[in-house]
Amino acid sequence: MISRALRNTALLILGALALVLVACGSDPAPVPTPVSTATSTATLPTATPEPPPTSTTVPPSPTSATTTQAVIPTVEREVIPRNAEVERLGAATMETLTFLTNEFSPRASGTEEEVVAAEYLRDEFAALGYDASIQPFEVQSISPYGRLLTVDEPQEMDIQAFPMWMTAAGVVTGQMVDVGRALSDDIPNDGLDGRIALIERGEVTFDEKVTAVFNAGAIGAVVYNNEPGPFVGALGGETIPAVAVSQEDGDMLKSLVEDGPVTATIRLEYTEESRNVIADKPGTADDGRVVVLGGHYDTVPDVPGANDNGSGIATLLTIAREIADREYPFTVRFIAFGAEELGLHGSQHYVGQLSDEEIASTVAMLNFDALGSGPTTATLGTLSLQSMVEEYAEQHGIDIRIRYTMDWGSSDHAAFHDAGIDHIFFLGEDFSRIHTPDDKLEFVETELLGTSAFLGMALLDMLAEDGG
Ligand SMILES: [Zn+2]
Repeated sequence: MISRALRNTALLILGALALVLVACGSDPAPVPTPVSTATSTATLPTATPEPPPTSTTVPPSPTSATTTQAVIPTVEREVIPRNAEVERLGAATMETLTFLTNEFSPRASGTEEEVVAAEYLRDEFAALGYDASIQPFEVQSISPYGRLLTVDEPQEMDIQAFPMWMTAAGVVTGQMVDVGRALSDDIPNDGLDGRIALIERGEVTFDEKVTAVFNAGAIGAVVYNNEPGPFVGALGGETIPAVAVSQEDGDMLKSLVEDGPVTATIRLEYTEESRNVIADKPGTADDGRVVVLGGHYDTVPDVPGANDNGSGIATLLTIAREIADREYPFTVRFIAFGAEELGLHGSQHYVGQLSDEEIASTVAMLNFDALGSGPTTATLGTLSLQSMVEEYAEQHGIDIRIRYTMDWGSSDHAAFHDAGIDHIFFLGEDFSRIHTPDDKLEFVETELLGTSAFLGMALLDMLAEDGG
């Protein structure tokens, strides 16, 4: 740990260097809304260094020594242990998360699943008295997640694949043909009509390879690396759906094709539209100031997304319930962002459509993403907000980790960061299961959910007191 003064200077430098890397089916029947046991009566405990002892015995005052010793009744005062509030909020959030995950997962970006989830969230916020609406926006993107390449015959296999940059979208199924490096001599004389070409990297550009097989009638292309590991390559323009796979998988496919007919499917789904859910509690000051509490509600395809990002959305709903009948000088704006997994599209759209005045009036953005798994709650963001949260956590005996950089991944605070808006990102530190079928409820920790809700609400109150 570096000293606060040193840290502040160092952080100003480090903050600027923060690395960015984007980095996490079924028609649901109408379902009843979960009834949360946690109502919003409890007030946030004031910061006391040490919890008072459970029962207070007022020592008899010396003046009464001469009189018979009156028995002074002991006063039982209910004291809320520091983490009881975290526990209560954690339990409420886990209840919401369980419902969300069981009833509304997966929520792949830009799909019908995302639409249904957005409507559920809008209705949840509206039921709590917020001014809730859906903000649609255009997305021109192919999801890099999901079952992009499968072998269907002779046996079913999922192959890890990445969309080639500038690939065409589409879902194509056909017999796989090994065409070497797709040099002119490699293309069979009878063409490649209706086939999927298996192509090795090297010698000529990816664009030349894919164009060559396209011209020969191929409906899709699988390009494999000529050195160990996966890769992503770029094409010159859209022809056919084309994906990149590792050398290991390429070699495996090559020998499978040598052994007999292989049928494969490439799935590159194009997302054209997504939506944010926005829910406002107007401020009493009516001066345009806004504090945003956000997190993305979409998941990558085919995963439960309990931690990424059910945990953040459930935390937002808990805070919304807890503060539903409180007042703040600024507008409190909850935003569930869509299409984050495709490239932070929802938050970029929201910030992109703000006027300069609206940007200047955005006091702060609190981002909640993948906060449910890891040793402790961590935060990343603007120094002043981090220090406020750190101090408050210390006063309440809550362990958190203050991060200054993120060595991989990013999230919806990034667009606010880029617009110069103060922001803080609440996260867990175990990302080992996100974007996988293992991102399940059982790996989400109730205490981490409660801690983020607790600290998020505390920061909101501190900003209000601060005249934020
Ligand atoms: Zn996420």
